[in-house]
Amino acid sequence: MKKVKTFCRNCSALCSMEVTVEDGKLTHVTGDGTASPYGAYMCVKGRASLDFHNGAEDRLLHSLKRDAQGDFDPIDHEQALDEIAKQLSTLIDQYGPRSVALYHGTGAYRSVLGAQLEKSFLSALKTPNLFSTMTIDQSAKWVTMGRMGVMASGKPALTDIDLAVIVGNNPLVTHQTMPFAAGECGAPGRAFTQAKERGTRFIIIDPRRAAPKPPALRIY
Ligand code: SF4
Repeated sequence: MKKVKTFCRNCSALCSMEVTVEDGKLTHVTGDGTASPYGAYMCVKGRASLDFHNGAEDRLLHSLKRDAQGDFDPIDHEQALDEIAKQLSTLIDQYGPRSVALYHGTGAYRSVLGAQLEKSFLSALKTPNLFSTMTIDQSAKWVTMGRMGVMASGKPALTDIDLAVIVGNNPLVTHQTMPFAAGECGAPGRAFTQAKERGTRFIIIDPRRAAPKPPALRIY
């Protein structure tokens, strides 16, 4: 049995974790307060990472190829890569490199080596087309950043903010904060409680109807 320091890959909070490994299998996971400014914080998703990694969601463990009937059959990964490379070459020869795009879902964000690999791969192909869950469901953020740029002064810390206006965001649940909302990604509830104790004022604007209450403007 050994203990390994690592971090949760589920979201951008990147909470520090300490995992216990026995016979190559994770047996315990806990927040690691020795390495994180948020203390030993982990949300319910992080605490569920044991099941996630041990295959509770019926993970895909080998490559599959769709057949003519639409079913999936196992395929050796070397052969799968060769066949994908051949199809990519055909596409690029016929339509140019911009005909190739790469999409990664939320779970791929924190695959540390994977994120580097995908950018190198696109760069080698000479295509800029990288899409993600965020470019599809929150495209305005990326279009705005691309057209208007971002503040070069960096992101303000919650400890420096006297008045925070949070529009259409619930960082207590999403853990999505800077640069999109004021707050702390890790242990957000604790950070907001401490901010209120310091005298920080919050204006919360819920632009959509969130049943059972109507759209709200709340000022604390
Ligand atoms: S907030 Fe939850 S999901 Fe996100 S990194 Fe921390 S433990 Fe993981």
